[in-house]
Amino acid sequence: MQVVYSPAHLAHAPTTEVELGVSMAQYELPARAEEIRRVLAAEPERFPVVEPTGHGVAPIEAVHDAGLRAFLATAWERVQAEQALAEVIPDTFIHPALREGMGPPPVPTGAAASAGYWCFETMTPLVSGTYEAARGAVDVALTAADLVLGGSRAAYGLCRPPGHHAPRAAYGGYCYFNNAAIVAHHLAAATGAKVTVLDVDYHHGNGTQQIFYERDDVQYVSLHGDPNRAYPYFAGYRGEIGAGRGRGTNLNLPLAPGTDDDAYLVALVQALEQVEAFGPATIVVSLGVDTFHLDPIADFALTTPAFARCGALVATLGRPCVVLQEGGYYLPAIGENVRNWLTGFEDRVSPAAG
Ligand SMILES: [Zn+2]
Repeated sequence: MQVVYSPAHLAHAPTTEVELGVSMAQYELPARAEEIRRVLAAEPERFPVVEPTGHGVAPIEAVHDAGLRAFLATAWERVQAEQALAEVIPDTFIHPALREGMGPPPVPTGAAASAGYWCFETMTPLVSGTYEAARGAVDVALTAADLVLGGSRAAYGLCRPPGHHAPRAAYGGYCYFNNAAIVAHHLAAATGAKVTVLDVDYHHGNGTQQIFYERDDVQYVSLHGDPNRAYPYFAGYRGEIGAGRGRGTNLNLPLAPGTDDDAYLVALVQALEQVEAFGPATIVVSLGVDTFHLDPIADFALTTPAFARCGALVATLGRPCVVLQEGGYYLPAIGENVRNWLTGFEDRVSPAAG
């Protein structure tokens, strides 16, 4: 399986995040992607690495508000012009109640107001290289999609920063541009056929759900920690099934703390039955390995061998897959867990190979 990788992500190296008012060490680090790359590079025949090609801003603005893209492109310079900060984390956000009955506010121009306007939480800093890295992750994802459009059975985009928490008009959850949503829209537009985003990150992909909530050509299916206890808290509930034309194309499977290999695989089989019923031509997998039992910011109990079983199950769908990296924060096993998922998928596709 071809692996698309770019060193552009190294430019995004925040050091802190704020959780419940406590400033702590950032979890979403460059070492995550480098560790995955290191493990996959040990098998160059199975995982040949290719560089991404530039795709410009049009695919981003096909799913994101152009104002969000423009803000991220210029935010760093605008902030530095007002105040020299190492990292920008807003502290005031647009709660729906703040302007209830008043309509939306004007788009602000001040740095602090702008960051609070476009961001939704305090764990996703802007640093000097954030925009460059986020653009790089989109190009990685779109290049993986192009490999699949060109006939590959599957391709893996080693995206960093991740993307699935970013809705149409905001960033947050370590995510700036929604790589998976950009790819899903790109595939749907290029083929005219249905696409499913299968999100197996521990966290619900609120951004992807929001972007496709009213569309009937892109299905969103997610297994995740129940949002009543788990980030992002305000999306991912079972009753969220889509709206309008998209009614019935959104499936959330919130799971209990301690969900182990067997319980998870039962839920994954349920999810895949619904994918089969939808009948997509192509699958985009939001692959997070923060379902691992030692992950520092999640509470499932998956083991490394389970990731191979998950990859093999997804391969049984028999459809082309664009696999994109989302979360996973336990560095000593992140590479092995991703390698196992991809290997499980490939071995199921071609049992005689490797
Ligand atoms: Zn996650």
